[in-house]
Amino acid sequence: MRSNCQRCGKAEKACICPWIQSVDTKTELIVLQHPSEVNRAIGTARILDLALARCQVLVGEDFSDDAALNQALARRDIRWFVLYPSETATPVSALRASGESDENIGFILLDGTWKKAYKMWQLSRNLHALATCTLDNAEDGRYQIRKSSKQSGVSTVEAGFYALKAIEPNNSALNALLVPFEQMIQFQIAQMPAGVFEKNYQ
Ligand SMILES: [Zn+2]
Repeated sequence: MRSNCQRCGKAEKACICPWIQSVDTKTELIVLQHPSEVNRAIGTARILDLALARCQVLVGEDFSDDAALNQALARRDIRWFVLYPSETATPVSALRASGESDENIGFILLDGTWKKAYKMWQLSRNLHALATCTLDNAEDGRYQIRKSSKQSGVSTVEAGFYALKAIEPNNSALNALLVPFEQMIQFQIAQMPAGVFEKNYQ
């Protein structure tokens, strides 16, 4: 039986804990994670969870009656946006410009393949009243290990990074979020037989 790191959830030889640094933000993040993502070797929601002080990861598919989510949504000091490409979605880079006074922004990320994220969105009725936004500041995913099965072609940690970066462009600590991600990718590449990475992912 393979043993996994208790903290990051990766196989022990793939542990990314040494590269995880605490990152402080004003912006809140909630990751709604589909159950099928929880034990993925290349899952990245845990990086956000471990690094960010203001981050919650909630696991499920229909979050309509999720107490933790509904409690967060009830906060009056946060304006929530779901990172989801609905017809009325605002580009994330436009949010800061329209930001008002003391209000903080909170992002809700759906962690799942396109299909799963769509289902989560459909089922979670409490999300429908919220504004939506899309990433317009993201470069293509650093490595396309999942072949664009994710929204906007970036991993969950990258999506979180770009969303936070749009609101807090001067928060240089955010860059630390991508370090354990890079390490994880390097490990995955190292596990592939020679030539597989070059052939499929570049
Ligand atoms: Zn670890």
